Amino acid sequence: MGSANPSANANGNANEGDESLADGGELHKFIFEGLPVRGMLVRLTGAWTQMLQRREAAGGYPEPVRRLLGEMSAAAVLMQSNIKFNGALILQMQGDGPVKLAVAEVQPDLSLRATAKVVGEVADDARIEALLNVHGQGRCAITLDPTDRQPGQQPYQGVVPLNGEDNEPLQDLGRVLEHYMLQSEQLDTTLVLAANDQVAAGLLIQRLPMQGESNLAGRSLASEEDEIGRNEAYLRIAMLAATLKREELLTLGADTILHRLFWEEDLRRFPAQTGITGPRFACTCSPGRVGRMLVGLGREEVDGIVAERGEVEVGCDFCGAQYRFDAVDVGKLFVPPADQGPGSGTVQ
Ligand SMILES: [Zn+2]
Repeated sequence: MGSANPSANANGNANEGDESLADGGELHKFIFEGLPVRGMLVRLTGAWTQMLQRREAAGGYPEPVRRLLGEMSAAAVLMQSNIKFNGALILQMQGDGPVKLAVAEVQPDLSLRATAKVVGEVADDARIEALLNVHGQGRCAITLDPTDRQPGQQPYQGVVPLNGEDNEPLQDLGRVLEHYMLQSEQLDTTLVLAANDQVAAGLLIQRLPMQGESNLAGRSLASEEDEIGRNEAYLRIAMLAATLKREELLTLGADTILHRLFWEEDLRRFPAQTGITGPRFACTCSPGRVGRMLVGLGREEVDGIVAERGEVEVGCDFCGAQYRFDAVDVGKLFVPPADQGPGSGTVQ
């Protein structure tokens, strides 16, 4: 395994010490004083352009897919920041159209990665229905995968269709995720998302559960449902947020956006998260992980590929790193751990 080629390792670690880390993006959190409403604004810059650049070697994505993936990346950062959870948040769209799968994954430290699998022609004006929901089978799944997951423990997953209340196909990722937040978290949420090739950005406004309302023991479902869509302060602020245009979200700074939208509100902002505390691109792939994936395929399968091609080559769909395993590497992979002498592990 130690012979996964050197350039692959360099690729895999390119985000470390990279000067572009500093401008990966920024996350701004704020609350509305005295009101049960909070908000977040994310702007991904370097984090987003690095993901696109890494994909270019593999041919890049059509424009509508880039836009979707950018919006997913921004949304996934907002949702990760919105929950108190030690693990990865994985926003995944599975489709029955030209996009089979699109994934954005954000770690608790806000490092993120995203990828999409495109199998067919994508029209220039394609939105969610034409990309993922041609036959009404498209799904959006949010998975919370705990960092310290025990063997056998399943990650939590919530799934929503890409159709609305009246079965109408949804065209906007913001609507899909608002639907998800309402269904699985019983939370009123407004999401405005936008992406181009330089910036992926999002604004989230959410009604905070009242004191005790989220307490399972004392929770009355009926009274909670009464609250959904009824809180006047939330509705006012959500309406202001919904006036934000995609173009403004992409081109204006956070200060300008928040001032323009909420200048009449008593906004309390928290220090911006940027640089090492902010959103940034990082891939979690490694020779060890790829090795475990090969072990999962089974010795016969892997030996067959080596016999045919001399080596197994595995590319990371997220960052483009290439991992190569020759016959010797493969032999080491399938040695039971007890048979490996101390110090024989070469995976770093
Ligand atoms: Zn990778």
